[in-house]
Amino acid sequence: MTNAAASATPLRDFVVALTDLIGLGLDEAALLARARPLLEALVARDDWLPPELAEPHPQFYRQYLLHADALERFSVVSFVWGPGQHTPVHDHTVWGLIGMLRGEEVAQPYVLGADGIARPEGEVVRLLPGQVEAVSPSIGDVHKVSNAYTDATSISIHVYGANIGAVRRSVFPPEGGRKLFISGYSNAWVPNLWDRSKDGAAA
Ligand code: FE
Repeated sequence: MTNAAASATPLRDFVVALTDLIGLGLDEAALLARARPLLEALVARDDWLPPELAEPHPQFYRQYLLHADALERFSVVSFVWGPGQHTPVHDHTVWGLIGMLRGEEVAQPYVLGADGIARPEGEVVRLLPGQVEAVSPSIGDVHKVSNAYTDATSISIHVYGANIGAVRRSVFPPEGGRKLFISGYSNAWVPNLWDRSKDGAAA
């Protein structure tokens, strides 16, 4: 369910908990192990994402910034798939956690060959609402992701170990090589997590 009265509390609680966690200075594996249940809790409920940040585009998948850490140590994004939309083969260069909020998506991992061509390798991951998967240069960073539905919107919530919209990363065309890619964000504004005046009413 989404509506105009969506409470910012679940997202704010997530951001606060992740900020605390990041401040511990854990190594990546320990950080991901402890961040995963936080994201699982966030996507276990679907009543907090404002409709403006859940809006698909008829042609392109959308990446809406929900929160960027002031020190750019992490960012939180809603990834909104229109029917049948998919990414190119791409990397992230930083750790990422992907939590399925609504609908389903499928991710095919790719591996870069010595010839510079990225080829599908490994099992396709199908993500159902409430489930979380991880990417990073140390555990597998190249994939192609698609909306599992050709007739409905799907939405996943992504967390990355940087201000992901500003990160210089790559897409991998089928003929080989790589192209620079800086994703930016689809939205001009972000949710206001800090107006607590309606917390009582929205709870
Ligand atoms: Fe990705």
